[in-house]
Amino acid sequence: MPTVMSAEFTDRARTAATCPMCGTQMGPAGGAPRRHCPTCLAAIHTGEADPAGGCGAPMFATWTRRLHTWVIELRCSGCGAVVHQQAELDGPQPDSMRRIIELLRM
Ligand SMILES: [Zn+2]
Ligand SMILES: [Zn+2]
Repeated sequence: MPTVMSAEFTDRARTAATCPMCGTQMGPAGGAPRRHCPTCLAAIHTGEADPAGGCGAPMFATWTRRLHTWVIELRCSGCGAVVHQQAELDGPQPDSMRRIIELLRM
């Protein structure tokens, strides 16, 4: 059944993925799909990275800022969309604080 196969594929994509930018194996973040790579903070412009939907091109972290929590801005290299995501600092695979500090905009 094609529907079952596609459901399995989606399920796998939600539990693990490989970062296309740095090759990091990304596990799930607290049961939810990861929205960006814990190592380089890049993402793929999909509906998971951007609730408005995405074009499938890589998104790169452009800056971070500390508000009530750490916020990462990502810009899509394909369509230029900009999204803001909360950093994942808990769980088995937290975001790299070193990378977050590198991108910190005072
Ligand atoms: Zn990465
Ligand atoms: Zn895009």
